[in-house]
Amino acid sequence: MSGRPRPAERRFWELVNGPWCDPRLDPYDDCWMWMGGRSPARRPKSQPNHKPYKQYGRFHWPLPGFPKHLINAARAALILTVGPPPDGDDLSPTYVAGHRCDTSLCAHPGHLDWQTQQQNTFKSTGAVRA
Ligand SMILES: [Zn+2]
Repeated sequence: MSGRPRPAERRFWELVNGPWCDPRLDPYDDCWMWMGGRSPARRPKSQPNHKPYKQYGRFHWPLPGFPKHLINAARAALILTVGPPPDGDDLSPTYVAGHRCDTSLCAHPGHLDWQTQQQNTFKSTGAVRA
């Protein structure tokens, strides 16, 4: 079965605005924006002054028994290109798909890295201070 594209693959890239949609986009440097469903940008009620949360793309990723399961679009981009997180679990809670470009709706695999939750939180905190 190896080498056979996962069925999700074609469905995924149809939802990404890459250079195949817009030839003005640089295939390496420009972000490829997610055009599918996304998470709501809401702030916690207890913290009305909190800046709105970053929005993340959501991609339909059916699981046995959970046909409507959704995963982060950036996670799907990495699974479909570089493969699952270092621990081998597609849905690993340990690893997140971190954005090097800091554009939460970007699905460019070259802008993404598997990071532990801890690395990702550290980076976000740094970004807020900068
Ligand atoms: Zn990007």
